Amino acid sequence: MAILIDGKAIAADVKAGVAEKCAALKEKGIEPALAVILVGEDPASQVYVRNKARACKACGMKSHVIRMPEETTQEELIAKIREINADDAIHGLLIQLPLPKHLDEAAALSEVDWKKDVDGFHLMNAGALLSGQASVLPCTPAGCIELLKRSGVELKGANAVVIGRSNIVGKPMALLLLQENCTVTVCHSKTKNLGEITKNADILVAAIGRAKFVKADMIKPGAAVIDVGINRLEDGTLAGDVDFEEAEKVAGWITPVPGGVGPMTIAMLMENTVRAAEAQAK
Ligand code: NDP
Repeated sequence: MAILIDGKAIAADVKAGVAEKCAALKEKGIEPALAVILVGEDPASQVYVRNKARACKACGMKSHVIRMPEETTQEELIAKIREINADDAIHGLLIQLPLPKHLDEAAALSEVDWKKDVDGFHLMNAGALLSGQASVLPCTPAGCIELLKRSGVELKGANAVVIGRSNIVGKPMALLLLQENCTVTVCHSKTKNLGEITKNADILVAAIGRAKFVKADMIKPGAAVIDVGINRLEDGTLAGDVDFEEAEKVAGWITPVPGGVGPMTIAMLMENTVRAAEAQAK
């Protein structure tokens, strides 16, 4: 049976460290603050934003949720981003994705002051990550690395396979694993013989968005399996991209959904925000 990687417990540990850093900054008269822009009424986004605000409170950090109506124009969104960029009392700014379809996501993200870009999505930060000079790492992949390290999984020289190549998870995940000296393969919807590739993975990261897609026969016995997927099933429950019940019998380590990568994403957001506040204080 695989060792269960407890994302909630590890995230609590990370947040405790963030709370200490926040307390130290407050002694210098700086109150770390995160602003979240939420456009529209997407129910999942509402939950994520609420969880982020709750985490800020738990860390002793200020949070501002800026709610904008569904019909917000690109100009209005950009004006709001610029207003927050100019506000010295706010250290981190994130735009909750996805934005309504009529808005240009890439253009909005590139308006965020890269020093306040605690999601790590600005092209400046993406470029810094590519060249190994990043000061802010995208939260979900950074959280996955932290889960692996804190669980004692050997990264150096490991064969790592990432399923998914999105800009927010798959690609940065591959770069971070490479930085940790893994040999990395990235798979996607056009990959041939996916199961044969994943069967060679000492570390398998699934970021696909398809419930229970990764089956036991795709997993190398003893592998560390990190499940990024969050999929809502018809009965309302959540499932990852990995068929957990099958996979835990084969894997060496596995993250559950919920309670694995999700809490770590938020913990890393807190870490990025306090680091941004520290950097801006200098
Ligand atoms: P995207 O939809 O942007 O990317 C999905 C990737 O999976 C694509 O690269 C796609 O390939 C690939 N893919 C789709 N079908 C297959 C297939 N049959 N075989 C192999 N690869 C396939 O999703 P995200 O990266 O944004 O998110 C992935 C999952 O992670 C989602 O469930 C999302 O909800 C979750 N998520 C969880 C977070 C957390 O905090 N835990 C944070 C962010 C996301 P192609 O490029 O060829 O289309």
